[in-house]
Amino acid sequence: MAFTPAMNADKRDEVLGMTQEEWTERLGSAKRARAFARWLFSDDACLLADSHGAHQVEDAGPRMIPLPDAIPGVSHRALDPLRPGLSFSLPTCRARQLSNDGTVKYAFAVGEDAAIESVLIPASGRSTLCVSSQVGCTRHCAFCATARLGFRRNLRADEIVAQFWLARRDAPKDAPLRNIVFMGMGEPMDNLEQVLKAVHILTQQPEPQLSAGNITVSTSGVLPGIERFLAESKANLALSLNAADQETRRRLMPQSEIWPMERLLDALRRDAVLNPGRDVFIEMVLFDGINDSDEDARRLISALDGVNARVNLIAHNAFDGSPFRPTPEARLRHFKDIVLASGIRCLTRVPRGQEISAACGQLALRHTDRT
Ligand code: SF4
Repeated sequence: MAFTPAMNADKRDEVLGMTQEEWTERLGSAKRARAFARWLFSDDACLLADSHGAHQVEDAGPRMIPLPDAIPGVSHRALDPLRPGLSFSLPTCRARQLSNDGTVKYAFAVGEDAAIESVLIPASGRSTLCVSSQVGCTRHCAFCATARLGFRRNLRADEIVAQFWLARRDAPKDAPLRNIVFMGMGEPMDNLEQVLKAVHILTQQPEPQLSAGNITVSTSGVLPGIERFLAESKANLALSLNAADQETRRRLMPQSEIWPMERLLDALRRDAVLNPGRDVFIEMVLFDGINDSDEDARRLISALDGVNARVNLIAHNAFDGSPFRPTPEARLRHFKDIVLASGIRCLTRVPRGQEISAACGQLALRHTDRT
């Protein structure tokens, strides 16, 4: 699929937002395009960015990294004429918080007055990065700290890829960063063109060649975006369902009036017929006394009939001013047992980095000018 170039306000092409197809066209050969990608994701590029303070924590706007005089495998004749129209900019790290369990939470500045969040989650053998797709969000989920930020703008593909580019060097050597989840700030389906482009860049050869199966895009339930995503992407989909009945879901996620849950689940059922090998993650954030009863678990089981579902149960990560309490741990386990007994795969997600403003949007909220 053809993507529109990711350009910054100066109308220059951002190097982290260009596909191999775009590089091949500009540099005149696929071989040079591959050489450029190898350099862009190399230790040399990382060291160059470091020498310009790219990994320092600083209260500043995005940082420009000058391209080096020579890039191995890319001739001067091919690259030099392009230089005035290229930009290698990186968000500035305004805050980096390290949790006791190894989780790292970042607030990245993508403009003078706008910050986004990313969270690096090391695990056995590989690390996962939770990325943002928008500055703020237009949706108004009642339980979400990001919703309080309002909406500033969509992120460009390069700003999404840059979160991976910057965070990967903090991953432990024995747990390299190979998984991406779009579960940070923003509704990815409201910025789908740039999200699809970022997924395309992250999975392209020769670098960084993540597997599409290791990328998960999570949505609050934007039906047109879900349908396009399922038709065009090989990455995983996660639906943040959070309730087993429409009325409870409407209270938690007001936009579900536009796309009721039955229509969302019908789209997933159609996909299960067309792509029987694809699983869909069903995310259920459980709130004490709201959506965590035995009856809710049984309703969820029948709602998921015909969906290739893998249910993830998550206790709400309460933040200051949140009107909800997390479900007690024993209730979470009991809910899981009921779902598992039906034959549906079900996991509880272990909360990570709880002592470091772990609810999505909290850290960015602190590092964003809200005037
Ligand atoms: S949960 Fe996601 S879609 Fe809902 S307000 Fe928060 S960021 Fe937006």
